[in-house]
Amino acid sequence: MAAESTYELDREYVFHSWSAQAALKPLVIASAAGSYVTDDAGNRLLDLSSQLVNTNIGHQHSKVVAGIKAQADLLCTVAPQHANAARGEAARLIIERSPDNMRKVFFTNAGAEAVEYAVRMAKQHTGRNKVLATYRSYHGGTQTAVNLTGDTRRWPNDLGTSGVVHFFGPFLYRSAFHASTEAEECERALEHLEQVISFEGPATIAAIILETIPGTAGIMPPPPGYLAGVRELCDRFGLVYIADEVMCGFGRTGKWFAFEHYDVTPDLITFAKGVNSGYVPLGGVIISDEICRTFAERAFPGGLTYSGHPLACAAAVASMNAMTDEGIIENAARIGETVLGPGLRELAERHPIIGEVRGVGVFWALDLVKDRATREPLAPYGGTSVAMGELVGALKANGVLPFTNYHRLHVVPPCTITDDEMREGLAAIDKALTAIGQHYEG
Ligand code: PMP
Repeated sequence: MAAESTYELDREYVFHSWSAQAALKPLVIASAAGSYVTDDAGNRLLDLSSQLVNTNIGHQHSKVVAGIKAQADLLCTVAPQHANAARGEAARLIIERSPDNMRKVFFTNAGAEAVEYAVRMAKQHTGRNKVLATYRSYHGGTQTAVNLTGDTRRWPNDLGTSGVVHFFGPFLYRSAFHASTEAEECERALEHLEQVISFEGPATIAAIILETIPGTAGIMPPPPGYLAGVRELCDRFGLVYIADEVMCGFGRTGKWFAFEHYDVTPDLITFAKGVNSGYVPLGGVIISDEICRTFAERAFPGGLTYSGHPLACAAAVASMNAMTDEGIIENAARIGETVLGPGLRELAERHPIIGEVRGVGVFWALDLVKDRATREPLAPYGGTSVAMGELVGALKANGVLPFTNYHRLHVVPPCTITDDEMREGLAAIDKALTAIGQHYEG
């Protein structure tokens, strides 16, 4: 029988990421607008996932759609060695929003490629080969990016020869250092990193890559002073500091870049997602003046046919301008402080299944536990559980499209979400936790 519905087409012909193919039951998303997606049966769901923490500007923003259409009429594609207006303007707007030491932008098609190229630049710049990355991290699915990734997705892809060395970043709730305060966690995490650098041999290490606020791994804002400490270690040992802002950049935390919360300046910044909310795939590396100078006379060995694709860059120009003109980043900061953060903390007072609430802006996670005293996660590391499956079902039944990861519910709506929509989302989370909490609260 020929496949007819979208669901059947997908199941018949589409090979999906990170999954065993047989058991998949993908939700069909037929259309979207603002903070909502609509499925093929006409049900509207509040998108608290932002499509993998991506649609910072919301769905179908009219100015971004118009920008893509206008560019499509003018010029759809151009080879990377030529210049074009959309690419130049997108780069200018990014540099204007970046720290003063940043000079140029190399465009990629996605976050993983941005990570690949940032690492290559750091290796070329330093003449060294190793890269340090944290265990609690996700940096993408291509080979270099998956080797840098700390979570279980690395395991089946890692040949053990990548030159990546992992270390523990700070995370007080599940401290690797038996710390009991943020200050202690910060100090011990920095001591640990310094030891890793010393024992690996500083002269063999090109870079440290860090998600400023690790996202997929659990939205864990670092303690005050940690990133400044990393910056100091990079300076002391001549390492390139790569800030992976693919998920936390471009408004998600209520600032253009998450590192602005911590008063540090990286050498390379990777971005994707929020730069144009994924309306057309785009990522890139923002490069410091110092690293640009390395490649002034010496060729940079790398490139991509679609680097700075006109449609993607036109979407980025329209998106960055709209974010500025419409106060969208300020909205994300305000919602986080006044509605989302307080709302999640209030839920934690009533639902013992919530072990910890973490986040900033529109970038939050609920760490769900079987038992608050032991902090045993509601699903095992790298796995899922009946309880998490039931939570997803209960959220959808209450009109919300969630993003869960292992034992966590990530609450990551568009930066454009309104107060009323956010309250609607919090009420749905409350109902879903009540429904499953009856069975699982410790
Ligand atoms: N870095 C981070 C911090 C990410 O969150 C992601 C994607 N979730 C990536 C890199 C990889 O991006 P992409 O999937 O666009 O390749």
